[in-house]
Amino acid sequence: MTTTEIPKEQWAQVLEAINGPVTYKKIPVREPGPDEVLVNVKYSGVCHSDLHVLHGDWALEAKLPLVGGHEGAGIVVARGSLVTELDIGDYAGIKLMNSTCLDCTYCNQSDEPLCEKAQLSGYTVDGTFQQYAIAKAAHVARIPKDCKLDAVAPILCAGITVYKGIKESGVRPGQYLVVVGADGGLGSLAIQYARAMGIEVIAIDGGDEKKDLCLKLGASTYVDFLTSKNLVADVKAATADGLGPHATLILAVSPKPFQQATEYIRARGVVVCIGMPPNTMFSAPVFDTVLRMITIKGSYVGNRLDTAEAIEFFRKGLIHAPYQTVGLSKLQEVYKIMEEGKVIGRYVVDTSR
Ligand code: NAD
Ligand code: ZN
Repeated sequence: MTTTEIPKEQWAQVLEAINGPVTYKKIPVREPGPDEVLVNVKYSGVCHSDLHVLHGDWALEAKLPLVGGHEGAGIVVARGSLVTELDIGDYAGIKLMNSTCLDCTYCNQSDEPLCEKAQLSGYTVDGTFQQYAIAKAAHVARIPKDCKLDAVAPILCAGITVYKGIKESGVRPGQYLVVVGADGGLGSLAIQYARAMGIEVIAIDGGDEKKDLCLKLGASTYVDFLTSKNLVADVKAATADGLGPHATLILAVSPKPFQQATEYIRARGVVVCIGMPPNTMFSAPVFDTVLRMITIKGSYVGNRLDTAEAIEFFRKGLIHAPYQTVGLSKLQEVYKIMEEGKVIGRYVVDTSR
C-alpha cells in the first residue's frame, strides 16, 4: 500500500439508529484493501436517498452504525497493492455503487447497478459523510483535475442518475421531456442535462421561487403542482401540438406524479420512474397503456460509462445547477430543510468544518 500523510482519526457523521439523529464525532480512518482506494473526501452532496436511508424507508436494510453519503468528491490518498489505474493525488468520486462483483451476467453487460452483490456507499457500507472513505478502485469515478470538487460532487449521484434516466427515456433533441420535482437536487440537474442535449423541458415543482429557478435553468414551461387546477391539461398544453410530452422523469418523492404521468404522456411516450417514495404502488390503466403503447420503466443510478459521460458534460461547462455549501457538522440541519421540502438544488457538505 502507498500512502501520504493520513491521520488515525477523522470527523464523521454517524447514524447510530434508524430515524437518527446523526452524530458528529471522531471515528478511526480505515486502511484500503488490496483492490480499494482511500479517498480524502473534500465535499459530499446530500441526496434525498440519504434521508430515505436515515428513515429506514426502503426494503433493503442499512448497515448500523452507518456513515451515510454517496456523492463524495476528493483526492486519492492511499491505494491497495493491486491498484494501478489510480494514483495518489488523483481526483476521484465515491458514488452509490461502492463495489460490484464485475463477474455476474449484469456486470458483464455493463449493468453493474443490477449486480446482486453490489455494496452501496452510505447504505450497506460506510459512505462519504466522513473525511476519508473507501471504495473499490474499479468503481471510483475518475474526476479530471479541471473540475471543482464542490461543484462536481452532486454529479456523482444526482447527475449520473438523471443523465442515465434521459438516455433510458429515448427522448431526442427537439422533443419534450417533463421533469417532475424539477427544482430538487436531481431535477435541477435534469433540466441542465436535457437542455445540453437540445431537449425541450417542461418543469413541474411547487412555488414561485422554484418557478424562477427552473426557467433560469432552461425549462421552457413551468407547471406548479401546488396551484395547477388541471396538471394533466397544463402539461399537454405546453407541447406545440398539444399531444403531450414524449417522456417524463419522475423524481418527486410523492405517489401522485406517477399516476398523472400515464395521463399526460403522449402515445408511444416513456414514463421513467426514478424518485422512490416509500411504500408506493403504481397502477396505470391497462386499456390506455395498450392502445397508446405507453412504456413505463425504472432507472437506477448509472454504470461506469454513464458516470464518465455525465462528468464530461460537467467538465465541458454545460452543467450549472445550483448548490450551496455548509459544514459537515450541519448535516442534521440539511436533513430538516429537505424534510420540509425547502431544498433548492443540492446541499453540499464541506468535510473540513
Ligand atoms: P429533493 O428533495 O432534492 O427534490 C425533490 C423535489 O420534488 C423538490 O423540489 C420538491 O419540491 C419536489 N416535489 C415534491 N412533490 C412534488 C410533486 N407532487 N410534483 C412535483 N414536484 C414535487 O430530492 P432528490 O435528491 O432530487 O431525490 C429525489 C428522489 O430520487 C428521491 O426519492 C431519491 O431517493 C431518488 N433517487 C433515485 C435514484 C435512482 O437511481 N433511481 C438516485 C438518486 C435519487
Ligand atoms: Zn443519491
